[in-house]
Amino acid sequence: MAQLSDDCFAFGGPMMSVDDAVGLIATSVSAVTDTETVLLLDSDGRVLARNVTAPLPLPPFTNSAVDGYAVRSEDITKTTENILPVVGRIQAGAAAYEPLKAGHAARIFTGAPIPPGADTVFMQEDVRIDPSGKVVLPPGLRPGANVRPAGEDIPQGEIGLRAGQRLSPQHVALAAAFGLTRLKVVRRIRVAVFSTGNELAAPGEARAGAQLFDSNRFMLMAMLRRLGCEITDLGIVRDDLTSLAGGLKKVAGECDLILTTGGVSTGEEDHVKAAVERIGTLVMWRMAIKPGRPVAMGIIGGTPLIGLPGNPVASFVTFVHVVRPTVLALSGALPEPLMPMPVRAAFTYKKKPGRREYVRASLRKADDGKLEAIKFPREGAGLLSSLVETDGLVELGETISRVEPGQGVGFLPYASLL
Ligand code: AMP
Ligand code: MG
Repeated sequence: MAQLSDDCFAFGGPMMSVDDAVGLIATSVSAVTDTETVLLLDSDGRVLARNVTAPLPLPPFTNSAVDGYAVRSEDITKTTENILPVVGRIQAGAAAYEPLKAGHAARIFTGAPIPPGADTVFMQEDVRIDPSGKVVLPPGLRPGANVRPAGEDIPQGEIGLRAGQRLSPQHVALAAAFGLTRLKVVRRIRVAVFSTGNELAAPGEARAGAQLFDSNRFMLMAMLRRLGCEITDLGIVRDDLTSLAGGLKKVAGECDLILTTGGVSTGEEDHVKAAVERIGTLVMWRMAIKPGRPVAMGIIGGTPLIGLPGNPVASFVTFVHVVRPTVLALSGALPEPLMPMPVRAAFTYKKKPGRREYVRASLRKADDGKLEAIKFPREGAGLLSSLVETDGLVELGETISRVEPGQGVGFLPYASLL
C-alpha cells in the first residue's frame, strides 16, 4: 500500500486555492509500485509501468502512400510529361520485388513496398495510360512524393510510449504496431467508498419518509471506475462513531485510498471527521471552490482518506479537483492538467473574487459558428438535473468577479474530466 506520513497534507492557511491543493497532492502522494502484465486490449485505461521502446521502425519498410506508379526520380523531366513503359505489379504485402529498371514505372498499390531504385510515386488519379499501355505522367511532381520512408513515424529504438501514460485506444494501437501482445501496467488503485448519513437509503432498499436514496456513492464509484480503480463498496455508514472508526481502521490496511461523501462540514454531526481524528490524522481543507464547501483529507495508518461534501454537485466538482489528481498520483500517472477550452459565455453571472467557481452549462453553436455556453437556469448544489442536462463546467478563475454575454470563458466538457 502507499504509505503517507501523517503531516503530508498539513496546511495552515485559511483557504486553499484549487491549484495549491492539486500541487500538494501531487507532491505528497507516493505512487504504488506493484505492476502486472495485461493483454493489449485490457491495457486500455491502465497506467503504463515502463517506457516502451520501438522494437522496429514504423513504418517497418518504405512503402507507397497511394495507388499509382512508382518511378526513379532521375528518369523524370520536371517540366514536361513523361511516358514510361509499365513493368510489374506490386501489391500490399508483396514479398519479393525486383529493382525498378531505369526508364520504367512499376504499378504499385497503397502500403506496398517501394522497389529498390524507385523513390517517387505518381497517384493513379493524376496519370493516364496511352494506347500502347505506357503510363503518361504529368510534369511537376516533387521527387520523394507519395512515399512513406521506413521509420518516418517512429524510428527503431525511440521511446514510443512513456511510463505513466494513461493508455487510450491510440496507445493500444501503437503497442500493437510494435508487435506487442501484452503491456506492463501499474496495478489498479484500490479505493474503499462509503456514504455517511442517517438520511440515506440504498437504492433497492426500503426508504423511510425523511430519507433519500444514496446517489453520490454510485456517482463516485462510476467516476473511480473510469479512472481505472478497483472499488470496495462499503455502503452507507450510519452516524455511529465507534463502528465507523473501527471500520475505517480495518479498511485502511486493505486499500490505497478511502473515499467518503457527506458529513464533512464543520459544526454538524460529523462522525467521519471525529472517527478519523480518533484513529488517524485529519486535515480540513477549506478549498476556495464553489460548489464545494470543505473537503477533508486524512491519513489513517499511512492510507489517505478524502471526505467529499454531501451535496451531489459539490461532490462531483471536488472529486474532479481532489480525488482525480490523488488517484493519478497513486498510480504514478503523468499529470493530466484540466484544459478548459475557449467558448463564449451566453449568460450574465456575478461571483466573489478570490475563489474558483464552476458553472454548469450546455454548449450550442451560435449563428456565427462559434460555441456558446448557456448556464443552467438554477444554481443549487443539490440539483442532479443540473449535471444531467448540461454538457460541462464553465471555469471562472479566482480573479473574475463578473461574466457578461459575449465574454470568453473556459469550458470543461464532462467527457474531459475523467
Ligand atoms: P452533508 O455534506 O452531509 O451536510 O450533506 C449535504 C446535503 O447532501 C444534504 O442535503 C444531504 O442529504 C445530501 N447528501 C449527503 N450525502 C448524500 C448522498 N450520498 N447522496 C445524495 N445526497 C446526499
Ligand atoms: Mg450529512
